[in-house]
Amino acid sequence: MEATLFFFFANILLLSTSRASPFQSHLLLHNSDGAATAAANHLHVSQISCPSWRLAVETNNIFGWDLVPEACEDYVANYMLGCQYQEDSFAVTSIALEYAKNLTLGEDGKDIWVFDIDETALSEIDYYSQPDVAFGAKEFNETKKNEYLKEAKAPPLPAVLEFYNNLLPLGYKIVFISGTSESYREYRELNMKRAGYHTWEKLLLKQTSEHGTTSVTFKSKKRTELVEAGYRIIGNMGDQWSDITGSNVGNRTFKLPNPMYYIA
Ligand SMILES: [Mg+2]
Repeated sequence: MEATLFFFFANILLLSTSRASPFQSHLLLHNSDGAATAAANHLHVSQISCPSWRLAVETNNIFGWDLVPEACEDYVANYMLGCQYQEDSFAVTSIALEYAKNLTLGEDGKDIWVFDIDETALSEIDYYSQPDVAFGAKEFNETKKNEYLKEAKAPPLPAVLEFYNNLLPLGYKIVFISGTSESYREYRELNMKRAGYHTWEKLLLKQTSEHGTTSVTFKSKKRTELVEAGYRIIGNMGDQWSDITGSNVGNRTFKLPNPMYYIA
């Protein structure tokens, strides 16, 4: 009888030990004193945290949003002005360069790399850091933004300028596509030259007939025209999902961070 009881309790102990071990990470969530529990409760009970919001935005799990949540204004400001934004951008371009330099290009000059302009080739951080813009937490002011564009003084995003300078000697032709109106071409080209982008195959802007179309439709149309003209889109880089989705997106796409605004 004693031997039976011993084996009974020994089996229970063995089962409970072997079952607990693979689920240690889950147990953390149920620890009433743990930080993981607090975070899990926060997710379910209230709004999501700002780091989780940013991740959801960057992965396109949250889309179609208008403004940075007011509670996340300081978080986004710290992200954009601190080193993490630059590090994240360099991570994207480093991965892209590894891809780009290991390909054999054609000899017809038709291999292209497509870039978006704002928050990709150029950084508008000096505009978005103004108090009445508040890193995208305040209502968008088109007049104010257009005045800024005419100043043509946006600096380059350092990671992308470096990547651009590495792409050219590899033989890639560069195509910039931006949803800015064609009527701003003079300012846009001036800004690009000032920022260090000295050459390009094409710089495509929105024609009057294309006004009113979404970015994803407009950029898909432009890329399709490029492909129909015989170009091969080897890579495509932008800060918006609408830069890298749609048709003829390219052989590989690269998403840069931008938690300040959303363009459909
Ligand atoms: Mg952009």
